Amino acid sequence: MKHATIKETAGGKFFISLTFDAETRPTEMKRESEKVETFDYSMPSLILSASGENDITAEDIRWYRNLEKRIAKEQRKLSRMQYGSKNHWEQKHKIGKLHEKARNRRKDFLHKLSRKVSDSFDAVVVEDINLQHMSQALNFGKAIYDNGYGMLRGMLAYKLNEQGKILVKVDKFFPSSKRCSACHAINHDLQLSDREWTCKSCGTHHDRDKNSCKNLLDEGKDILNRWASGDSSLILAPSGVLSEKKPHPQARYNVRQDGE
Ligand SMILES: [Zn+2]
Repeated sequence: MKHATIKETAGGKFFISLTFDAETRPTEMKRESEKVETFDYSMPSLILSASGENDITAEDIRWYRNLEKRIAKEQRKLSRMQYGSKNHWEQKHKIGKLHEKARNRRKDFLHKLSRKVSDSFDAVVVEDINLQHMSQALNFGKAIYDNGYGMLRGMLAYKLNEQGKILVKVDKFFPSSKRCSACHAINHDLQLSDREWTCKSCGTHHDRDKNSCKNLLDEGKDILNRWASGDSSLILAPSGVLSEKKPHPQARYNVRQDGE
């Protein structure tokens, strides 16, 4: 054993983490991926899956919104209390507990989802988007952090890696929304408000989210195939995350101000 760390949460719970030295054998990575799932981040607060079975919808995180409303209410009460008083202290503790509850429920939800997906698929494809940048640019902060796309990716990475499976991170410049999944033409005019659109090149009518999901899945499968055939422009991190060494060649098509 190396050391122990004791931590007290805002809700008054104590946790002790123990750190051990242990020998691990590197997992052998599977080269074939038949069943591939995709998690596509979609505005304003949804995570969609290519299979359609693992979507995270507004309904799934409704409890979180409700809890958030309660926290805001208790916070208003706190602001009316005298700083340093016993009531103030107790109210602060109550709010801390509510925050902790929200965090735990979200974690629990994402752990279960990532377990289910990593057990039943050979590989998972996600977008390498920087949510912190996006939330600042768009003021969508809350919606983005709520459903924890970043947290889900982290959980998927290690749960897949344990089983020799791969998490594919598609480059953030890949034009998943603007590309037609049927003919790969790029729709430069696509706006964030366009929920449906028709491809000018091949005439296919698209649901924005489904098209984006399909593109991400196809691109992920392509990356997996390239990796299986030894493509040296890809890099597999020790954590089992597979990604491009350089930005996507279509980067020039996509100015990422709109959170695509
Ligand atoms: Zn098309």
